[in-house]
Parts: sequence; structure tokens; C-alpha cells
Amino acid sequence: MTPGPRRFALIGDPVTHSLSPRMHRAGFAALGIEADYVLERVPASGGAVDVAGAVANSMRRLAATGGGNVTIPHKAAAASALVDATEPVRLTGACNCFWQSEDGRLAGDNTDVVGIAAVLEDLLGGRTPRDVLVLGAGGAAAAAVVAAARLRAPVVRLANRTPARATRLAAQLRRAGIPARAEPWPAAGTSDVIVNATSLGLHAEDPLPASFDRVTARLVLDLVYDSAPGRPGGGTPWTRAATERGIEAADGREVLVRQGAACYPHWFGREVPLEALRRGLAEATAPGPGGDR
Ligand code: NAP
Repeated sequence: MTPGPRRFALIGDPVTHSLSPRMHRAGFAALGIEADYVLERVPASGGAVDVAGAVANSMRRLAATGGGNVTIPHKAAAASALVDATEPVRLTGACNCFWQSEDGRLAGDNTDVVGIAAVLEDLLGGRTPRDVLVLGAGGAAAAAVVAAARLRAPVVRLANRTPARATRLAAQLRRAGIPARAEPWPAAGTSDVIVNATSLGLHAEDPLPASFDRVTARLVLDLVYDSAPGRPGGGTPWTRAATERGIEAADGREVLVRQGAACYPHWFGREVPLEALRRGLAEATAPGPGGDR
């Protein structure tokens, strides 16, 4: 690692509304670590520009000074750039957390898997989910399926707007021994747990990812969360619709905390208090002047 202040960044496009800088600065402060965490937009489309190459360059530069995270739409490109990839990266084909290994190699993990598994485990009180329905077929859906398998769910069903993507992802995960199978879209029927891993809910005009006239569950987890200041803990349209039907529901805020916390052992060789990250997040979404979110 090069000498000087340690620098971390979130690479993505768009990144402007991310809560990660406030969350991680609170984590660094709690551990007494002098480092900054900034946003780095790597444009998703740049004509003749090599987007995957730009992502890899940003990762290598940042890894030399600290490390960072990767978000939409660059998680697959980030996975391809790694020299050392953890098992969750190999299973999902996505990387959201990177650093430089002791021998100078670009290393990465997909901490969404452990983040989603930890939140589901807490919500289920340690109970094994009977079956899990995952909505979506992108990187977050892959992480949710692997997380459900870690909790020993005997069946994980995938429903996606583009059914071929769900079929492809289910087949890819089955080859790794994960009991995934594709289902028609829109989703229907009764599940123990439903996870929304689509991007529906990010915009006010979005339809719900699944109508509670067609699906029901004991528990729903929406990976989407509301990053607007002034609505801390307000849930999402989908979690509110679930709650109205008497279904236990949680939004993606705690997953954000847990996936973020899982980066600290990689970055610093130590754990971060979850409360510090939760506090940083709460301050970033508190009413009033938002500052740099
Ligand atoms: P992605 O790879 O771009 O996948 C997006 C998914 O959403 C695809 O399955 C896509 O379906 C579906 N989708 C998009 N627009 C749709 C529409 N109008 N109707 C139905 N389906 C639609 O994104 P990702 O990386 O998997 O992330 C998905 C979401 O999870 C994002 O909102 C992200 O912020 C969230 N997330 C949250 C956390 C957290 O910490 N809380 C962690 C990871 C991800 P098609 O295949 O048909 O395009």
C-alpha cells in the first residue's frame, strides 16, 4: 500500500445518491482510522471507451491507497478485474468490495451475500426458511439466492421480467450445487420468504415488484431502500404494501449496513461496530441539510 492518507471510494454510475460515504466515514471514525471515502462515477456507457477497463483502472488505483466498493452497473466488470476472488464472487459473478492483498494483488469479495444472509437470519430468528422466492436476475438476485442457500433453504425460486435471464442464472447456480429454479414473471403463489432484488422501488413511479394480490409470504425483504433525507426508516412502497397485508417486511437499509461491515476485515483486518455504521446512515437520512450523502 502506498504511504499517505488512505482513500476509499464507491465506483458506480450513478453514485450521487449513495449513503456509503457517510456510513463508512462513521465507521472509520469509530475505529480511529484516518481515511476518507468518496464517490467515483465511472460512466456506464462511453461510446468507444472501454468501460470494463475504466472500472479495473479505478479499482487498481484505489486498492493501492485503501480499497472500496462497487455498485450498479459495474459489479460484473469488477469481478472480472480481480486476481483474487472469494467464493461468493465466483458463485455470483459480481464483486462489491475490493482491496489489495498483502502480496499486491487486486482482491475482492461479494459481501452482499453475507449481508443478505445475516439480515434474513435475524428476521427469521435463526429458523430455516422453507422456500424463498427471489425477484430479479441481476447481481443482487444472485447474491440473494446464494444467501438463501447458506441458510439451507431447500428451494430457491427466481422470477424475472426477462425470463431467460432467470433461467440462465438458475442453471448457473444449480451447477454450483445451489437449489435454484426459474419461475414465470409476474411472480405468483405462496412462499415463506420473498426478496425483491429488482431495481423496482428506486423511483416513485415504479410499479410494485410483486402484487400482494398474486403473492404472499411470511416475510419479505426489499433490497431497495429510500435514501432521501427526512424519511429515515420509512420503508419502501413494497414493504409498506406488505405491512398493510400483515406480512413482516424490511427494506434494504440493514443489508447495506451488513454488507458494508463485512468489508472491514478485508480492508483493516478488524470488525467495525454495526452501531457506528447505522448511526452514519441515520445521520445521512435525517431531516435537514443533507450535506454530502
Ligand atoms: P441489476 O443487475 O441491474 O438487475 C436489475 C434487476 O431489476 C433485473 O433483474 C431487471 O430485470 C429488474 N428490473 C429492472 N427494471 C424492471 C422493471 N421495470 N420491471 C421488472 N423488473 C425490472 O441490479 P442489481 O445489482 O441486481 O441490484 C438490484 C437492486 O438491489 C438495486 O435496486 C440495488 O440498489 C439493490 N441492492 C441493494 C443492496 C443493499 O445493500 N441494500 C445491495 C445490492 C443491491 P431484467 O433482467 O428484465 O432487466
